Amino acid sequence: MRIHAHSMLCTFGLTLVISGCQPSDSSQMQDESTRAYNCQAIPACDAKAPDPGALRPFNGRKPAGQAWHRGHDQYFREGDTQWLIGKFNYGSLLARRNLIGEEVDIHVLRGCGTSWEKLGTSLTTDGGGTTIEGIPDDGGRLYFEIPADKQLGVGRHRVRMVVAGDHSATELFVEVVPEGVPLFVSDVDGTLTTAELAELGSTITGTIPQANDGAAEALKGLVNKGYRPVYLTARPELSVQRTREFVDVRSFPVGRVETSLSPLLGLLGDKAVEYKSEALQRLTDKGFEIAYVFGNTASDAEAYENAGIPAESRYFFKYNDKFGGQRIESYRELNEFASLEGVCE
Ligand SMILES: [Mg+2]
Repeated sequence: MRIHAHSMLCTFGLTLVISGCQPSDSSQMQDESTRAYNCQAIPACDAKAPDPGALRPFNGRKPAGQAWHRGHDQYFREGDTQWLIGKFNYGSLLARRNLIGEEVDIHVLRGCGTSWEKLGTSLTTDGGGTTIEGIPDDGGRLYFEIPADKQLGVGRHRVRMVVAGDHSATELFVEVVPEGVPLFVSDVDGTLTTAELAELGSTITGTIPQANDGAAEALKGLVNKGYRPVYLTARPELSVQRTREFVDVRSFPVGRVETSLSPLLGLLGDKAVEYKSEALQRLTDKGFEIAYVFGNTASDAEAYENAGIPAESRYFFKYNDKFGGQRIESYRELNEFASLEGVCE
């Protein structure tokens, strides 16, 4: 484990503090930016929502019912096209209508700072567009490409999308992650929550599920060593905000939350495998190194196998992985993370 992590960190250029790596001069600036990014505490990012300005009339009929909007968190590499993606619909849980052809204003809290900046306005889609960042245009989508002169820099950013006609809104988080920063990916239900179905009961009672003992500390330990988290869950798309709340309330490190696109119920079995495999592939296609993965079911195991994660870097909570990943009974067993050589020590 230690050898694996050491060679990986060297490969990724975190060389300043690791003996035995031989940095080239040209990599030194990169190392410093990586180190600065990783060693700063992630800001709370809890500024009050921006002033949405005056209401503007809807282009079409005023939508009826409750707003069910949501935004997709993203991790980008420097130089990637930066897409901000949301979904806008109204109605009841079981009968939602997409918001089509309506203006949405996009605001950003750059660097999780203190002042909001309006990036632009875009129209919600009619469902005839293409797939961007793995998200097909099924109508009521917003795809906003950040203009070149407003690109987000390295770090974490909060984005708020506001419907011009009624000021209903949704938020998402974007991080621009420099070269040299590896990721870890964790399933949520039953891996971080105390049971695979804990979220279902908690949704009904309006509470947030409990977390497995030691899980938050273990993942925070990885973040303190310079890794960034992806919470990859087959929960339905609507669950993204509840998942962010779970991460927050149970003291897990903030990161990217990625849900499935399923409209109402989470994905199971082969569908979960397919969804998670594709999500992992998108990360590796962008050049991200996935250093560790955590899961608790056969679908996690198969997706992690498909993604080619080394077996010794796969951890399964109270689950026997037929592909050779490691079973843990408690997150307190993950002492090896404490001995990883990170960039912030
Ligand atoms: Mg699970």
